Amino acid sequence: MTAPVPADILSRLKAVLGEGGWSVDPERLAPKLIEWRDRWSGTTPLLVLPRTTAEVAAVVGLCAQAGVAIIPQGGNTGLVGGQIPQGEILLSTERMHAIRDLDPVDDVIVVEAGATLAAVHEAALAAGRRFPLSVASEGSATIGGLVSTNAGGTAVLRYGTMRDQVLGLEAVLPNGEVWNGLKRLRKDNTGYDLKQLLIGAEGTLGVVTAAALKLQPLLASRAVAFAGLRSPADAIELLARAKAESGGALEAFELMGALGVELVVSHMPDRRKPLDSPHPWFVLIEIASGEPGAAEAAMERLLARALEDDLIQDAAIAQTQAQARAFWAIREDQSAAQKAEGAAWKHDISVPVSRVADFIAEASAAVIRLSPGVRVAAFGHVGDGNVHYDILSAAGADQAAHTARRDEGARLVNDIAAGMGGSISAEHGLGAMKTEEALRYKAPVEVAALRAVRSALDPKRIMNPRVLF
Ligand SMILES: Cc1cc2nc3c(=O)[nH]c(=O)nc-3n(C[C@H](O)[C@H](O)[C@H](O)COP(=O)(O)OP(=O)(O)OC[C@H]3O[C@@H](n4cnc5c(N)ncnc54)[C@H](O)[C@@H]3O)c2cc1C
Repeated sequence: MTAPVPADILSRLKAVLGEGGWSVDPERLAPKLIEWRDRWSGTTPLLVLPRTTAEVAAVVGLCAQAGVAIIPQGGNTGLVGGQIPQGEILLSTERMHAIRDLDPVDDVIVVEAGATLAAVHEAALAAGRRFPLSVASEGSATIGGLVSTNAGGTAVLRYGTMRDQVLGLEAVLPNGEVWNGLKRLRKDNTGYDLKQLLIGAEGTLGVVTAAALKLQPLLASRAVAFAGLRSPADAIELLARAKAESGGALEAFELMGALGVELVVSHMPDRRKPLDSPHPWFVLIEIASGEPGAAEAAMERLLARALEDDLIQDAAIAQTQAQARAFWAIREDQSAAQKAEGAAWKHDISVPVSRVADFIAEASAAVIRLSPGVRVAAFGHVGDGNVHYDILSAAGADQAAHTARRDEGARLVNDIAAGMGGSISAEHGLGAMKTEEALRYKAPVEVAALRAVRSALDPKRIMNPRVLF
């Protein structure tokens, strides 16, 4: 827990922001002090709600002088607890959500940090463009949070992570100064790139206040399919074929185990299995092309050949947009269905795509040896080598006893991923959950360099002090 914030600093912050710009109301604070998985709860002496970049600068400047710590928070959908304060000032971007500009010639949208991803999707569509980043939390996750966690999601395969979508940033640095880096250039080779340092910094190098993001053209044809298959190894072979068959138009390739699909249909009353026959594994494939009819044709060719070669055993292509959404809902509800089932050991690992099947086999054998009867619910963005490798207790087992072994399970799984040249956090960041663990896997020379950067920008370590190195 951070040292108590002096009363005079609290009074000065309230005075800077004025009425409506802060709160200590327990009801107002409650949803911001507990995170989605109910794993972390927090406290704060003051919620600050700036409306402008100048107000953010005033808050950060005051805190910097006094050495008072700040936790930035957007939509509070982060999955590693980095947005939950433990006695620090909580700075929410919820009142900073304007779309400042959208330029179809530059193909750029400039938005404030508190705008949700869903609002950005909507604004882009209204202008006949698309912002491709897609995560299941899009209704609440904000641009500031997505930038600060370098979010991934289902479209990384084609468009990259948030890091690849950002052309420019505006941010308040830890000393309270505003950096206006809202450029919209595709090329700018002028030395170190400050925006790339802030992306993925999880609120440790300042508060992101606005971003200039790349837009993409709308695509004329789109095909979504669900296929049943025998193994992750077959899924990886199908992935290679899908890339080749679609000629670069593969938009998403998501793997799910049978358990995850069963949990979704049993806990979510509106969900239906896309395939009637049982299979140990499923993939959701999306192809999207600028050429009318091309996506559908590529999908049909891909699936027909895979069925003929017995690489997949069944498949369905969505015939309507509603059906495509229903297929996607099975994938997007994997986490929520697990939550309804009980406690899970959660891992967000990545390995080279060629090692995904080995990773799942090796890690599954290891966790079952550790705790016989546990159930593996692996799913994820397998086209990026990213597996959400989650472990549920044996059916009906004591949940507290399962949770008590979570760290032992994580150590096993992380060691296996790292041994395959992988990462212990593919897309969620380190936050409060994995910062300590990450130190085991980073080279000391890298940690020292990263600490030097941080202490140069934030010598008093006021920004999200318990997160990162
Ligand atoms: C159902 C569900 C599905 C998800 N799916 C995915 C997925 O597929 N891929 C993926 O990558 N993530 C996924 N996530 C995780 C989450 O949505 C992302 O991490 C998202 O980027 C967090 O955005 P947020 O606005 O909620 O940030 P918060 O949770 O509020 O904050 C996250 C971190 O960013 C910092 N931060 C927030 N705003 C700012 C700011 N303006 N300036 C500086 N720092 C800031 C916080 O201090 C914290 O460290 C999922 C989450 C849920 C609940």
